[in-house]
Amino acid sequence: MNHDSALSEMSSPSAPTSTDEGTSLRGSLAHPHFSTDREHPTETNVKTKRVRPEISHPVISSFRQRFPHGVNWYNVIWMVGMNAAAIAAFWHFSWVGLAIAVVMHWVTACLGVTLCYHRLLTHGSLIVPAPVKYFLTLCGMLAAEGSPLFWVATHRKHHVLSDQEGDPHTPNDGFWWSHMLWFKPKEGPGELEALLKRWAPDMYKDPVQRFFHKFFPVFPIVFGAMLYFGGNYFFDGLGLSCLLWGLCLRMVVGYHSTWFVNSATHIWGYRNYETTDRSRNLWWVAFLSYGEGWHNNHHAHQRLARHGHKPWEIDITYMMIRILKALGLATQVQDRLPQTDHAA
Ligand SMILES: [Zn+2]
Ligand SMILES: [Zn+2]
Repeated sequence: MNHDSALSEMSSPSAPTSTDEGTSLRGSLAHPHFSTDREHPTETNVKTKRVRPEISHPVISSFRQRFPHGVNWYNVIWMVGMNAAAIAAFWHFSWVGLAIAVVMHWVTACLGVTLCYHRLLTHGSLIVPAPVKYFLTLCGMLAAEGSPLFWVATHRKHHVLSDQEGDPHTPNDGFWWSHMLWFKPKEGPGELEALLKRWAPDMYKDPVQRFFHKFFPVFPIVFGAMLYFGGNYFFDGLGLSCLLWGLCLRMVVGYHSTWFVNSATHIWGYRNYETTDRSRNLWWVAFLSYGEGWHNNHHAHQRLARHGHKPWEIDITYMMIRILKALGLATQVQDRLPQTDHAA
């Protein structure tokens, strides 16, 4: 597996140890040519220059291991801001805001993320004409779960290394890590580029996808501005309600629905297939995420467009794919379960 280069960049950079610095300090004290007070430390200076002992509390060492380059404050501030705005939405309720939220949740989380980002771009479970692909990709970007390139590369890496060393978001590293902490670390130099080239080389070759990758935050921000000004203009001053419900609250609900696929469906639920990972089928995650909660089925047959393999395993995203197929907009839909490995 040639992921070592990307992984090696994630390893903690070596910092000078207290022993190194202590040796250096002792060396300077013994040196005969320091003539100034600054260079020739007095007892007081020694005290102020004394190196703090290495703190070896397990929480701190775990933090250093997980965040070798520090915290990605852009992500943290965005998430804190969106969650605060989502709570504020309940003080600015309007029926039009709720309607926009419901419709845009389906457009972005279902058509954009589960259908396009996941089943189309990541796994090639169907083929659609290029204009349809880019339109659906735009829908996905309005969910603000990252650029399509980043999303696809991360998810493919998850499939190859599921619940093993190198899995970007396994609950082996704790529930909260797999749910929403895994994308908070700041990337090291060249680390993101290496991830994209290694795990999504097909998309990286596409200049449109690289453009989307570079400018993807602009799309939800512009959409938010359209909701605010459009809401004020067309719905008698309800711009703030349209913004808070149609963008902020809707996105936060979408975030947690997607994150539960990473966390909850690798912890709770039942298994139709004996896979080498911890994937499970979990009805309430399937309900929240348009069918993505049938995650054990998906890990067992990754390329299949249908994730619900039993009669009760309702898969809304697959229904959308069948509609696209009926309209002549989707071809080569991977929808047949292998007979030899059918869910028992
Ligand atoms: Zn998984
Ligand atoms: Zn997948």
